[in-house]
Amino acid sequence: MEKEILTKSLKSEAKRLGFDYAGVCPVVKPDNFGHFENWLDSGYFGEMSYLNERREAYRDPQMVMGGAVSILMLATNYQTLEPALINEGQGRVSRYAWGDCDYHDSIHIRLKSLVEFCRTLPEPIVARGVVDTAPLLEREFAQLAGMGWQAKNTMLISRELGSWFFIAALLVDKELQYDMPFKTDHCGTCTACLDACPTDAFVKPHVLDATKCISYLTIEHRSSIPVKLREPMGDWIFGCDVCQDVCPWNNKPQATDKDEFLPASDRNPTNLRELFWLDDDQFRARFRKTPLWRPKRRGLLRNAAIVLGNRPARKNMDALSRGLNDQEELIRGACAWALGRHGNYQSQPILENRLAAETTDEVKQEIIHALKVARSDT
Ligand code: SF4
Ligand code: SF4
Repeated sequence: MEKEILTKSLKSEAKRLGFDYAGVCPVVKPDNFGHFENWLDSGYFGEMSYLNERREAYRDPQMVMGGAVSILMLATNYQTLEPALINEGQGRVSRYAWGDCDYHDSIHIRLKSLVEFCRTLPEPIVARGVVDTAPLLEREFAQLAGMGWQAKNTMLISRELGSWFFIAALLVDKELQYDMPFKTDHCGTCTACLDACPTDAFVKPHVLDATKCISYLTIEHRSSIPVKLREPMGDWIFGCDVCQDVCPWNNKPQATDKDEFLPASDRNPTNLRELFWLDDDQFRARFRKTPLWRPKRRGLLRNAAIVLGNRPARKNMDALSRGLNDQEELIRGACAWALGRHGNYQSQPILENRLAAETTDEVKQEIIHALKVARSDT
């Protein structure tokens, strides 16, 4: 099949399957690999050691699919409603996780259909679809395929879609007709994202220290969150959208037509107190198929406790007291910190009782520190 015809047919099948953008680039060693290596060498990946362990694989898409010649880069818009106002006792969830399914699953279904389409062409081609988990510098290849530019907030921005979209890729073993790379940068003199970041996570434009980023801290970081970053977390229990919300390129909402990304009733925002009454099985039943499963119960309750601590209120006390006696020390430590900020609501006796029973050094330290804060509050 002529490469022009093959390209047209792949793009039109991608659109039919629900992808909102499809652009094509050749398989090359990414020009920007040095930028990624510097980022790894600086340790900005935090506990995401899998990135560092696979660093060599990111150097060449052949490591994702041997024999790959071209890549069809795909975008899926997930923009839905505007964020809801957050009231006391509620937490904010990153927009991409508002729906009731994990985007990896829904995009994989579409990619599988696209791979099947490639297999059943009159002249079949070999293809592999990936979303997020393969060692591919997706934003680099998306730019090469004409999708947009890599912005100062490190997101890929499309002039049509802004940055509210997922990127996926289909690697194929045939030469296709390539799109023009996106060569211009439309950030200009704007620094809104850098200025608005609550934790100062940007080292400079285009360089993010993930160890300070709320998205990383609330989703990928497995241990306790550094004390100085807890207050800047504000209301975020899962992810953070601040550096995208302020971006002028996200001003023109382009609502997705996909029901799977419509906000679930308990997601935008999420009621926090009730989370403390879910046991492992109930937590699994509620979140297993959603992105919120990734930090697991221990991570999400750690985050919920911190958010409750950021908005002290008498009615948080029962949830935080329950969390202070949880079997997970990570949750106990975060609840201790939060109760320390509830000194006005007589949290000291609760903390003192727990201190007498606590056996873990790290949690004891959290309680001792919380007691100091609580006493200074009263
Ligand atoms: Fe900062 Fe939030 Fe953007 Fe992370 S996601 S860089 S914390 S604004
Ligand atoms: Fe670029 Fe401004 Fe958007 Fe940041 S907020 S990504 S600087 S346009």
